[in-house]
Amino acid sequence: MAHVALVTGGTRGIGAAVAKALKQAGNDVAVNYAGNDEAASRFTSETGIKAFKWDVGDYDACESGIAEVERKLGPIGILVNNAGITRDGFFHKMTRDQWRAVLTTNLDSLFNMTRPLIEGMRNRGWGRIVVISSINGQKGQMGQVNYSAAKAGDIGFVKALAQESAGKNITVNAICPGYIGTEMVRAINPEVLRTKILPQIPVGRLGEPEEIGELVKYLCSEAGSFITGSTLSINGGQYMI
Ligand code: NDP
Repeated sequence: MAHVALVTGGTRGIGAAVAKALKQAGNDVAVNYAGNDEAASRFTSETGIKAFKWDVGDYDACESGIAEVERKLGPIGILVNNAGITRDGFFHKMTRDQWRAVLTTNLDSLFNMTRPLIEGMRNRGWGRIVVISSINGQKGQMGQVNYSAAKAGDIGFVKALAQESAGKNITVNAICPGYIGTEMVRAINPEVLRTKILPQIPVGRLGEPEEIGELVKYLCSEAGSFITGSTLSINGGQYMI
């Protein structure tokens, strides 16, 4: 059955691949983004998927953005909390701004986006919530104390909300990607990629955004209805738990 799906940070990278996969499964998809209008209009003209601009770190903006999407497309049944940023630096040099920006965009956003939607999902008795966390929330990463803390927080959010929501036919899951070949990762110096990064990945390559898209598509299908509260690693064997 088709549902209305909303993907945050869906105009580029992993989010764009997730949005396309959910559309390909027959859902009516909308994406959100922060400010890169050029990427957003390119994405919309390529895919026909509507893009809506607001900051997932701002509760009021999320509430009105969600209301606008629901006015245009109908009640949202699938929410993918994908938008995320990094502001790296060693902790002993980290500023309050670096800490706050990363916690706001990667963790507060889960409250801001999910709280306005969850009552509707509960009332309708169906929902799918997927959070894109990170391998670095599982294992910690030097230079990313802020990001690792936020992404680990994402996993706790998922486990608790999954317990509260299971009786209402709503699943809540976290996906933890390893190195995925988005623009950011592909911009890494090829020599660093070959000598420092790829040797950490037993499969010997970067992941593709489309591989995350396929996993989200499965979790959001009826076939995925027995998977909830899970933390799914998709990292080429880089970290096994
Ligand atoms: P990109 O930087 O390629 O894209 C980020 C998207 O999020 C853009 O659409 C951007 O919008 C949007 N965004 C950023 N901040 C906000 C905000 N405050 N409000 C609304 N939208 C926002 O990211 P990736 O595809 O690389 O990453 C996607 C997710 O996957 C993130 O949560 C990231 O932490 C996680 N991840 C990525 C990995 C990787 O290897 N790439 C590995 C593990 C996890 P705009 O274009 O307007 O800026």
